[in-house]
Amino acid sequence: MSSIQAVRGMNDVLPGQTPAWQQVEVWVRALMSSYGYDEIRMPIIESTNLFSRSIGEITDIVEKEMYTFLDRNGDSLTLRPEGTAQCVRACLEHGLLHHQTPRLWYMGPMFRHERPQKGRYRQFAQVGVEAFGLEGPDIDAEQIEMMFRFWKKIGISQHIQLELNTIGSLADRQHYKRALVEYFSRYQKDLDEDSQRRLHKNPLRLLDSKNPDMAEIILAAPSFEQYIDSASKSHFEGLCQRLMDCGVPYHHNTRLVRGLDYYCRTVYEWTTDLLGAQGTVCGGGRYDGLVSELGGKPTAAVGFSVGIERLIALWETQQEAPHKKLDAYLILLGDASEAQGFQWAKRWRDSDETLSLFVHCGGGSLKSQMKRADNSHARWALILGEEELNREVVAVKDLREDRPQVLIPLENVAEWLQQSKHPQGNG
Ligand code: ATP
Ligand code: MG
Repeated sequence: MSSIQAVRGMNDVLPGQTPAWQQVEVWVRALMSSYGYDEIRMPIIESTNLFSRSIGEITDIVEKEMYTFLDRNGDSLTLRPEGTAQCVRACLEHGLLHHQTPRLWYMGPMFRHERPQKGRYRQFAQVGVEAFGLEGPDIDAEQIEMMFRFWKKIGISQHIQLELNTIGSLADRQHYKRALVEYFSRYQKDLDEDSQRRLHKNPLRLLDSKNPDMAEIILAAPSFEQYIDSASKSHFEGLCQRLMDCGVPYHHNTRLVRGLDYYCRTVYEWTTDLLGAQGTVCGGGRYDGLVSELGGKPTAAVGFSVGIERLIALWETQQEAPHKKLDAYLILLGDASEAQGFQWAKRWRDSDETLSLFVHCGGGSLKSQMKRADNSHARWALILGEEELNREVVAVKDLREDRPQVLIPLENVAEWLQQSKHPQGNG
């Protein structure tokens, strides 16, 4: 019988990889709290119409990437492909936008039925950030500066670029779309199948096409710039000024539109050359129309989301993945040591709750236990054999530095480990 495997495109994060994930999660929490953003936790399943109404029918996500199914009541449900729409849903449902301007973040799995490849999975994790009720470019700038701080923190700011654009108001976009339809219609027979289908419904999507045969036509298409209204232009200028003021480099990419229907004014992507084809690590922008689209009062809104798998992959191009942290591995030789060692381990943990101690179970020779201690990433091996037990000490071997073994009284082990972990300096 063949064994059961994970669903294609859905990955286990194995113990060797979790330290990197945990580190990123710690940094994300610290970053959010340093800007005063509050965490919101939302379900991973929503009613299907939440996404079809918000993201737009003619987008990759809604057309072909959603995991949609009928539950036992016959209701159409969807595994969330992204968090923005459901964040708006949650805010409206719980009245969070009543005379308030919340700044929120969340982290968790998203689901899209795409062709799995490096950096593109069917379940992947995102950190998302959303701020509501703020119209000025200061909040757009804050979120971009926030992410720039993160790139610096993980040491990759040299390898990531900010592509920034404004796509104006909804009305601007209507005018621009009309111009695009007119332009692309002239090349009708050169368009690929996807593009022909999209031409009248969502011509902006044609600009996103990655089909090399269409590159030339796309390059010569009318540019958005001449259709942008003056209020949106000055919003964009305010944003660029703030980015310059705080030293965040950006590239004004007039071709950037982003796929989702709900964006307006600011759109951006952080991209890198280090991850091959899947080079977009983070995308964001303003979506002032979405709250009213989903039944609320017109409310300004701006946010972004980062893909964690790509972020970790990028980080790991610059430095070795972190591994698990363990202070000590307790080696127990013989029945009496096993019984007593178990109790001592409890006492050491009682007296220092930051201690991370791995207690060997299942017996075995000194040599075989030592080998495991070596592979455990522990800093020290604590050896408790019959002789040590009689003398009420434990033999401590440094597993990282070549130092003579020392004997430490059983009573003092927790204290000794703590002091050795945080040496006071000896001068
Ligand atoms: P792409 O152009 O790569 O498909 P996207 O525009 O669909 O990206 P967004 O919807 O903006 O992506 O999602 C934000 C981020 O989430 C992306 O920049 C990326 O880091 C990550 N992401 C999106 N789809 C996937 C996926 N299938 N697997 C892994 N990460 C993903
Ligand atoms: Mg996509």
